[in-house]
Amino acid sequence: PETQPPESIIFRSKLPDIPIPHHLPLHTYCFEKLPELSEAPCIITAATTGKIYSFSETHLLCRRTAAGLSKLGIEQGDVIMVLLQNSPEFIFTFMGGSMLGAMTTAANPFCTPAEIYKQFKTSGAKLVITQSMYVDKLRAVNEGFPEIGDGLIVVTIDAPPADCISFSQLLDSDETAIPDVTIDPEDPVALPFSSGTTGLPKGVMLTHKSLVSSIAQQVDGENPNLYLKGDDVVLCVLPLFHIFALNSVLLCSLRAGAATMLMPKFEIATMLEGIQRHRVSVAAVVPPLVLALAKNPVVEKYDLTSVRIILSGAAPLGKELEEALRSRVPQAILGQGYGMTEAGPVLSMCPAFAKQPTAVKSGSCGTVVRNAEMKVVDPETGFSLGRNQSGEICIRGPQIMKGYLNDVDATSKTIDVEGWLHTGDIGYVDDDDEVFIVDRVKELIKFKGFQVPPAELESLLISHPSIVDAAVVPQKDDAAGEVPVAFVVRAKDSDVSEEAIKEFIAKQVVFYKRVHKVYFIHAIPKSAAGKILRKELRAKLVAASYTA
Ligand code: AMP
Repeated sequence: PETQPPESIIFRSKLPDIPIPHHLPLHTYCFEKLPELSEAPCIITAATTGKIYSFSETHLLCRRTAAGLSKLGIEQGDVIMVLLQNSPEFIFTFMGGSMLGAMTTAANPFCTPAEIYKQFKTSGAKLVITQSMYVDKLRAVNEGFPEIGDGLIVVTIDAPPADCISFSQLLDSDETAIPDVTIDPEDPVALPFSSGTTGLPKGVMLTHKSLVSSIAQQVDGENPNLYLKGDDVVLCVLPLFHIFALNSVLLCSLRAGAATMLMPKFEIATMLEGIQRHRVSVAAVVPPLVLALAKNPVVEKYDLTSVRIILSGAAPLGKELEEALRSRVPQAILGQGYGMTEAGPVLSMCPAFAKQPTAVKSGSCGTVVRNAEMKVVDPETGFSLGRNQSGEICIRGPQIMKGYLNDVDATSKTIDVEGWLHTGDIGYVDDDDEVFIVDRVKELIKFKGFQVPPAELESLLISHPSIVDAAVVPQKDDAAGEVPVAFVVRAKDSDVSEEAIKEFIAKQVVFYKRVHKVYFIHAIPKSAAGKILRKELRAKLVAASYTA
């Protein structure tokens, strides 16, 4: 029988390692160059008020928010929940929370009340920062949720409804009144939710050290992986509640001294207008946005010549799309980054962003970030594989998560005893050290880059009285990348319809988790240990009988 090779085959960045100031708290690190930057633009609110905040103003408002949150009772180790579209207050809260040694958990405001409640409860949040239009969702939540104003503090960034507090009250605070806290680099500062390789969404503990390391890996040192300069204007249309925008757009821009152009939501003409007006030079996008930029005729009406980097991430980018966008924005380097929330999130980044202008290989997710190690393991044997051989991608380094909040079991299934984080992605490293993702072994489905955890939909499906068993798997889709589809075993004598099941789910979940198709089946294929054989179901979808 084969034996494990004595040494793992490890891939590293071609760039030399750099010293990373791990000891600094995140906010200190991000605002380290404040004295030089002071009046440089930091936040541009393009689609709303048009206000531009300088670095010193942003820093001041983060400090005032910290003091205001402290007055409301937020202490070191507490969790603040944010339910906001992209807005300056999101940034003030996140950085203000960091100054207090607190953590921020941000949720998608489109989530249903039940979904928001789950994240609130799991994270143990003490206070919610939101917009008045979402307050009804907090009031609608089932029993167990504290009453607003009577146990639960809710702050709104616009006119506060009854029992809520106005964010302007926080901004009126005295910035010198921030309590003195000693922050340990291992203290969590961000708590994004992710289902990881299996099960339900969990709180991912990203510490000061993880985020400082991840940002440094991208923008610090000579030839950084993500080449952001002080005069860059970076498009932030992706939601800050997802770690891609929070880290690679906002935090990296703060550190590099670049301006972040905030868009509260995606509306193509408004976005293009903002890019043209503010001379956006770096655009972080996801594949559906690449599709819009490449194919929508309205794009021709705007001047996009200021754009020099387009960074696509969160889901695979198809070759045709890449080419279509390149021909439309020929002066820009279009490349991918590969991330996973638990990995801090960036594992690899297009090398052409740093080295002008080398050709970008189609499908490449770039080279592994510096100060980190990557290996590719055979999912069956666990043996590490050499170049051009596909296996599960694993990453190790100071940037990965500390673990899942209150879930030692899930943590130990994801980070092994040697410190390797197992991504559940299948890929390989080529002769030039570039990473290619070819498949996913984990359960996760990605709809336009958004996470759809099958376990969540399966538990909802089997709560239906006419369903005895169910499994949810991804089906390929041109517009969304993947959509969730369900295999359902109906109860004896039940004739519940596909439409009824789809509606039952749609009422309970955010739009991207809706089930797109229901296939009735006699039994869900399972292993001897009772695990759903998802591969078999995915194979069935490819078979002719299951195509739409
Ligand atoms: P999330 O934690 O929501 O960022 O999702 C992480 C997952 O998205 C990864 O584990 C991959 O499955 C997928 N993903 C992220 N970036 C890419 C990429 N550039 N190409 C292919 N898949 C990606």
